[in-house]
Amino acid sequence: MGKAENTPEVIDILAVDDEQVNLLLLAGLLRREGVNVVAARSGFEALTLTARHDFALILLDVMMPGMDGFTTAERLRADERTRHIPIIFITAISKEQRHIFKGYEAGAVDYLIKPFEHEILKNKVQVFVDMHRQRLAVQRASEALAKTVDELRTSSQALSDSRARYASLFTSMFNGFALLSHGDGPMDLAQARVLEINPAMEQILGRPREVLLDQPLGLALPNLDGYLRDFAAEVARSGKSGLIESYLTDIKRWLRMQAYVPGPGLLALVAEDVTGRRKAEETIQERTFQDPLTGLANRALFLDRLDQSMERSRRRLNYLYAVLFLDLDHFKPINSSLGHAAGDKVLRAVAEKIKGVARGLDTVARCGADEFALILEELKNPSEALRVARRICQELARPMDVDGHALHFSASVGVVLGPADYAHPEELLQDAGIAMEHARALGGGKVKVFKWAMRTRAQYALNVNQSMHLALERQQFRLHYQPIFSLKDSTLAGFEALIRWQVDGRLIPPGDFIPQAEQTGLIVPIGQWALAESCEKTAAWAARFNLPRNFTMAVNLSAKQFAQPDLMRQLARTLEENHLEPGRLKLEITETLVMQNPEIVVHKLRGLREMGVKVSIDDFGTGYSSLSYLRRFPINTLKVDRSFVSDLDAFENLIIVRTIVSLAHNLGFDVVAEGIENERQRDFLAELNCEYGQGFLFSKPLDEEQTEDLLSVCCAKPSSGSPVGS
Ligand code: C2E
Ligand code: MG
Ligand code: MG
Repeated sequence: MGKAENTPEVIDILAVDDEQVNLLLLAGLLRREGVNVVAARSGFEALTLTARHDFALILLDVMMPGMDGFTTAERLRADERTRHIPIIFITAISKEQRHIFKGYEAGAVDYLIKPFEHEILKNKVQVFVDMHRQRLAVQRASEALAKTVDELRTSSQALSDSRARYASLFTSMFNGFALLSHGDGPMDLAQARVLEINPAMEQILGRPREVLLDQPLGLALPNLDGYLRDFAAEVARSGKSGLIESYLTDIKRWLRMQAYVPGPGLLALVAEDVTGRRKAEETIQERTFQDPLTGLANRALFLDRLDQSMERSRRRLNYLYAVLFLDLDHFKPINSSLGHAAGDKVLRAVAEKIKGVARGLDTVARCGADEFALILEELKNPSEALRVARRICQELARPMDVDGHALHFSASVGVVLGPADYAHPEELLQDAGIAMEHARALGGGKVKVFKWAMRTRAQYALNVNQSMHLALERQQFRLHYQPIFSLKDSTLAGFEALIRWQVDGRLIPPGDFIPQAEQTGLIVPIGQWALAESCEKTAAWAARFNLPRNFTMAVNLSAKQFAQPDLMRQLARTLEENHLEPGRLKLEITETLVMQNPEIVVHKLRGLREMGVKVSIDDFGTGYSSLSYLRRFPINTLKVDRSFVSDLDAFENLIIVRTIVSLAHNLGFDVVAEGIENERQRDFLAELNCEYGQGFLFSKPLDEEQTEDLLSVCCAKPSSGSPVGS
């Protein structure tokens, strides 16, 4: 049957068309090694063929006499044996026509409109052929394994036969495959013995089977990642198969691995090398998460790594880590006396010195002009952190040559020792900064460990909190509304509701109280108020004005609010009480929130989508987004952060904005650019096809009265009282 040989087995695909020339064309285009195009001249013939034979894909003409393509697809979907076969419709009907939808209902996975590009067809088909091939291989290997395990129990004679059988199956697989045994004890990937392995896996691991077989896996791969080991243990314990992407330090590759339990004491791993794809993703991320001057991590990446360390310390007993926050003493005069170029050289040299002291697994970041931060991982004891801090100070004290000047520095260093009880990495970093201030107050060149007593601002925070409680009761909060315009045709597309606190005739901006409210949890009732208020206003305006069909009111939602278990119920109630159409409401959540717990977030976002409420990711670009998650999020909009828009003269910002816009469009999201202050920025963004803009160029946030004035200009009803047709 040729399946066990090294040439790929032939995969059949079915082409259905009533015209012979079309069939010949398809067969000619797709003819290549390993693909066989079977032709059918009608829907009936297709049904007969599929009943007898398995196909990787069906290319189905829509317009055929007798039974058309849609009906054929419906019949295929109705049959248990054929419902899984992917279908690509080929049609001359134009895309705009609603037949497309009929096609999707019938189960099309894709469409090609005639005349189509030959390369597109070839690529699409190749994807399905590859998928089919992999599915077959995995399926066969699992069947063989299941059988083997069965036979293992009953007869030892059968063992060698079945081994031979699946060994030959393994040979034909493109994915790496390994069968591991952990015997009667709990699964530990490093201790598990390798029972079997296929050539693809030998190649991925770069080690011959002789070295691997019957040995603990940890012998060949001594640096297995803790997460991967936890994952394997969990699959073995629960018996439920799982999928993970993990970096294997020993072979320097990213693998996407599926694990399952083929029998007691066994674990099977199917692995695919995804290093290429990860590298591509990383280069995009690097641009966004690297400090361009020193090549160190930037603040966003640092906070993300810190979050991971905090998570690790929550899971692993006795996991010690530390954060150092370092500020160069007397750096500022360098810029003014020797110039910025010399200043840059100093910063680069300092970065190199710090990197030289840090170990491979530590993170070094530049957080501000002359501020650096480090995460020291896997510490043996707390004093190790202090030793590292002192060594950095010693290194900096050695003279460095900058443009013929021998310069040396001292630094003030603040240290926070983990595990520490913080909910957010920002807070930990902030405390490291406070400790650094204390070190600097001692005259520079000192290292200080953070203590709670250092929080002198705590008293201030307490006062703000108490008056914020009262502010809710006394109805001192106000909403202002900043218009968002279409960059294409300058029409009003909606507003963002922004909160203010009015005390003694003074308006306090959100930046001065929202962070406090976040910390104490007061943000939840405040946010609820803002949500209800903006829904009420929007519904009233929808009745009074002729709002455009896609008009939305964007409301900021804090992390704490989003995490409320009854968020959905609350939202539904607020919408209902105010008779507001869900599609008019757009919730803005920040990128950092979304990436903190993506699995849970995806789940909630799906709920919001079902409800019809829109979602926008705010301040996009400042956090650390995983592309693979972003792809899975059912959201509508990315909001490019103001910091990028405000300085488009910086080349990297230009690249970042361009990347974000095209990323968003590829994923089917639209884009709002925040903080547009001049026409150059607007024109640049419009040229990139960024859909919407918001910023002082168009308008500052407006109070209620001004908002209504704007609406009566932009969205007046044609004649008072008469309803407007859609
Ligand atoms: P955000 O959601 O990113 O809101 C945009 C901020 O940018 C607003 O600041 C707005 O006034 C400002 N802005 C808009 N256009 C320009 C411009 O062209 N130039 C400049 N320099 N700034 C511009 P604001 O009103 O001070 O709000 C700050 C932040 O407070 C918001 O950032 C949001 O994160 C938070 N916030 C505001 N209202 C609420 C709320 O009701 N709930 C929650 N949880 N957070 C809120
Ligand atoms: Mg916002
Ligand atoms: Mg924003």
